[in-house]
Amino acid sequence: MHPDVAALLAVQTDDIEIHGLEERLAALMPRLDTIVKEQERAAATLDRARQAVDAEERRQREVRGRLDQYRQLEERNQAQLNAVTSAREATAATAQLDQARKMIGEAQRELDGISHRLTDLRHAVTDSDHALRDIERAQKELRASLDADRATIEAQLAELHKHRDERAVSVPRSLLVRYDRIRSHKRVHAVFPLRGHSCANCDTVLPLQRRSAMAGSGATEVCEGCGVLLYAGE
Ligand SMILES: [Zn+2]
Repeated sequence: MHPDVAALLAVQTDDIEIHGLEERLAALMPRLDTIVKEQERAAATLDRARQAVDAEERRQREVRGRLDQYRQLEERNQAQLNAVTSAREATAATAQLDQARKMIGEAQRELDGISHRLTDLRHAVTDSDHALRDIERAQKELRASLDADRATIEAQLAELHKHRDERAVSVPRSLLVRYDRIRSHKRVHAVFPLRGHSCANCDTVLPLQRRSAMAGSGATEVCEGCGVLLYAGE
């Protein structure tokens, strides 16, 4: 193999490794996004649970207020009953007292129901709060681990870029420019050997004339089929 081609292949080896590391680096962020979304969902659940408790507590205050009014009413009705002077007044006062007591009973039953619901709702808040804390802890750990991974990969990348630049010095400038132009994020692997008479990447046959020009000279040709850079294998 011509030394120019060998030098270019060494550069390509580094470039492929660099690409692999860049892909790993790019794959780190989506992992963080997933857990951040999970955290947002857990925070929203906790928020809803707290709002439900607030709403139930408002209802509780409102019913307690009503209960107080009914009790005052009951006292007044009781006082009226104590002060009656006729059987007719007694019947009316008793009916009013019964009515007040009935409303007190209803309000108390309502308060019991609210109190049961509040117990459940407060448990839900505690559970949601724990779930959120777990996710926050996991997120923190994941972030630390991702930061460590990123630092490792970035250090490897810096090393590889240095190595690549050192190797690139041995490649003739024009060949390197050609190679860099063909390489892109879509095409990681830019240099292929001829396999027989064809491109090793896409099997397109290279015309005889161009093949013979390559033989032994170290010249490279661009494949008409797929656009990669071809070199004579042997
Ligand atoms: Zn090809």
